[in-house]
Amino acid sequence: ERIPVAEIVGEAVDRARLQAQARDVAIWARVSQDIDVVGDRALLVTAVRNLVDNAVRYSDGGTRVGVTVRVAEDELVEIAVVDQGIGIDADALPRVFERFYRVDPARSRETGGTGLGLSIVKHVAADHGGEVTVWSQPGRGSTFTLRVPAAEPAETKELA
Ligand code: ATP
Ligand code: MG
Repeated sequence: ERIPVAEIVGEAVDRARLQAQARDVAIWARVSQDIDVVGDRALLVTAVRNLVDNAVRYSDGGTRVGVTVRVAEDELVEIAVVDQGIGIDADALPRVFERFYRVDPARSRETGGTGLGLSIVKHVAADHGGEVTVWSQPGRGSTFTLRVPAAEPAETKELA
């Protein structure tokens, strides 16, 4: 299925809106209208939703969460979710995509959750022939980048 990435990001952000308001975290998204991806709409919305949910949940009030989209050179669309939250220690970073892994169980108990969100994102990425990667620094924030295949540009498709 060919899906405008703006719709995926829009739905994921809409669903996080209330949670973000409650935590006084601002969400912005910058997505050009003409980028399409190929894949399963519901799974992709769930994946982006899980990333936005984390970004909001592991941030303090008064900070911002951003979602940006760009087409990478290798025919992949990069959806990046950027936060200014608590960040993740370098030694915990390689494990965050594991099922049930949570960095700080004591703190995480307050914030709720099961530790499954990122393992789902990883599976959705893999199912689409893509990947998810993370950059993070404690105290500065995190950026999770989901890469999924871009749909062929419409003009190319007509000529083929
Ligand atoms: P669930 O998503 O199942 O409700 P969860 O958020 O704890 O629970 P994951 O989404 O898999 O589980 O994330 C795993 C752990 O990685 C989190 O518990 C948290 O410690 C850490 N983490 C994930 N995203 C972020 C982020 N944006 N900033 C800081 N820590 C994060
Ligand atoms: Mg989560």
